[in-house]
Amino acid sequence: MIVGTLKPFEEIVSSITGYKKILVIGCGSCVTVCLSGGDREAHALTQDLYNKPQYKDGPPSFHVETFQRQCELDLVKTYLEVPESTDAILSLACGAGVQTLAEAFPDLPVIPAINTTFLGALDEPGTWREKCRGCGDCILTYTAGICPVARCAKRVFNGPCGGSSGGKCEVSEDVDCAWQVIIDRLKALGRLDDYEKLFTFKDWSAHGAGGPRKARRATNYPLD
Ligand code: SF4
Ligand code: SF4
Repeated sequence: MIVGTLKPFEEIVSSITGYKKILVIGCGSCVTVCLSGGDREAHALTQDLYNKPQYKDGPPSFHVETFQRQCELDLVKTYLEVPESTDAILSLACGAGVQTLAEAFPDLPVIPAINTTFLGALDEPGTWREKCRGCGDCILTYTAGICPVARCAKRVFNGPCGGSSGGKCEVSEDVDCAWQVIIDRLKALGRLDDYEKLFTFKDWSAHGAGGPRKARRATNYPLD
């Protein structure tokens, strides 16, 4: 899922300064699960925005909502109602959600309250780690299900760089060496032979260097 982090409070205050009536929208999907931009966070942020800063002309008025998926243009256009005389939207969605709102409401500024950080998974309660870079050409088949693109600091493809110590990456003791994990897992799976297979090259053309990527598939599925 997409993991995000609330922006620094002062940055959010600065970005909403000057607006009088703000619609604050939490997103009910990824950012709810990673505890950064859901309903609870939207209300807590709004409370803080209302109470804490010293606004020159008093605090703006806020209306808080949570929308299930801000990144779906047709849902947003159909179901999201913007209260009359709203002059800005503060979105707690990821960047895709913010841009979808901007497209749906071309006359309103849409301000992000979240820094979208990575595609990750829950390691343990309260801790998410990056697990995928969305590179468009997944190699997990060959690496025992552990991604060196996302989890190796140097993105090396043919074994450890030599900097690991005690199974940890040289960048931090908090980070497992991805290649150590790959090798351990290949051993456990009885597939250590795979480690001997060299990657010649990876197709990076799917990674996005050619501009924004697009996925398209038929949506007229039969109902049964
Ligand atoms: S190889 Fe690419 S698509 Fe597969 S997990 Fe790694 S970054 Fe994601
Ligand atoms: S120590 Fe391991 S994870 Fe870190 S950069 Fe080297 S190979 Fe990659």
